[in-house]
Amino acid sequence: MVLTMSQTPSAPKSVAARFAAVQARVGAAASQSGRDPSAVHLVAVTKTHDAEVVAPVLELGHRLFGENRVQEAERKWPALKARWPDAKLHLIGPLQTNKVRAAVALFDAIQTVDRPKLAEAIAAEQQRQGRQLQLFVQVNTGEETQKAGVAPGESKAFVRQCREEFGLVIAGLMCIPPVDAEPDAHFSLLKQLAADAGVRELSMGMSGDYEAAVRAGAT
Ligand SMILES: *Cc1c(COP(=O)(O)O)cnc(C)c1O
Repeated sequence: MVLTMSQTPSAPKSVAARFAAVQARVGAAASQSGRDPSAVHLVAVTKTHDAEVVAPVLELGHRLFGENRVQEAERKWPALKARWPDAKLHLIGPLQTNKVRAAVALFDAIQTVDRPKLAEAIAAEQQRQGRQLQLFVQVNTGEETQKAGVAPGESKAFVRQCREEFGLVIAGLMCIPPVDAEPDAHFSLLKQLAADAGVRELSMGMSGDYEAAVRAGAT
């Protein structure tokens, strides 16, 4: 007897099937909360996965991806972007100022702007390279000492400083709730802080809690 992959009882579902399932759950969560599913953009995080794993997702038509390290992204994404020039890559991990030049050259968005020195370096590098990335301020909603991000009470002033002192366009806010916390309070706090700061985009929700994030307004 010959079993194809899809007939093997233990075979993992195809990338296409898993991708469709996630998109369906995002759409359902949006609809349930009265939101337009097209207002929610799924960032497929490809860290630790090789280009051969990422390519099939691009072939399915998905164009929005995330990586958490500049050097890892530099190893796989230039070739993928050469083949799919409209792919968009978001930096979702911490950024050191000595990697800003490389990050501005490769990424389309930085979700982890969290201090004046970094904001200033991004502004200078954008000008030098003639690029404008989509920028998010990371907020440490749980006020965890080991976690990056500005304190909730400082986010409005920091967004303003980014605009007025460094001339940056801040698209929105990003948060990563504490691992052991119920995330809803963090999602609603981020939404409130974004409204206070006058920014629209809300980057929140990961594999374990993305439906709750969509219901709370994640864009
Ligand atoms: C890995 C990572 C994610 C995605 O986490 P999952 O639980 O795998 O969905 C999100 N944000 C950051 C900063 C990450 O490093």
